[in-house]
Amino acid sequence: MSIKQNLNNIKSQLPEHVTLVAVSKTKPVSDLMQAYEVGQRIFGENKIQEMANKWETMPKDIQWHMIGHVQRNKVKYMADFVDLIHGVDSLKLLKEINKEAIKHNRVINCLLQIKIAKEDSKFGLSAEEAKTVISSDEFSELKNIKVIGLMGMATFTDNMQQVENEFKFLKHTFDDLKSKRLDNFNLETLSIGMSGDYPLAIDCGSTMVRIGSSIFGSRNYN
Ligand SMILES: *Cc1c(COP(=O)(O)O)cnc(C)c1O
Repeated sequence: MSIKQNLNNIKSQLPEHVTLVAVSKTKPVSDLMQAYEVGQRIFGENKIQEMANKWETMPKDIQWHMIGHVQRNKVKYMADFVDLIHGVDSLKLLKEINKEAIKHNRVINCLLQIKIAKEDSKFGLSAEEAKTVISSDEFSELKNIKVIGLMGMATFTDNMQQVENEFKFLKHTFDDLKSKRLDNFNLETLSIGMSGDYPLAIDCGSTMVRIGSSIFGSRNYN
């Protein structure tokens, strides 16, 4: 099946309140343009340099989401154009994003990444750490970032019961933190679900799915 068919199939299955991020990491601009031509305007990348290169060459009505782990010293390369940063996992990183956003006179939307997987390799804050961050005075002073939601990645496993438990834990955390409202904190977006688990994620309350291989085919990292 073609990229266009894959995309249309997936879109036809998504409820209206769920936003699709087309995860295009490692894929050439020509592949992204196929998705663009059938209306896709949100693309997710996990490397800042690759995202910046694609942003430069592609139409300017695309919204670019950084879904990978972000190194503080690289924030400056996306600060002028990134639409949403999914993987924010420390106050230090929020401060850096805020600093770069000020230089461009804009507010950068962020999601806090919560660690829900039982694997050491996954990044993220615990629910408690997230609470500590957003309750701090330092956080409330960051005027050029806005935390609009949470993001999580389930354990890489075939055990869908475990994945479901992890998603439900994150949804619970989301509902818990949602009662808090600040100028720079207002939870609306729950970013969970990838090619292998997005129907389950939607059942568990996802409002944003990040789908790569089911649209663009498997990735070749060589
Ligand atoms: C690569 C990636 C995805 C998409 O994964 P697929 O299984 O190809 O859909 C989603 N989220 C993150 C954070 C990723 O790095």
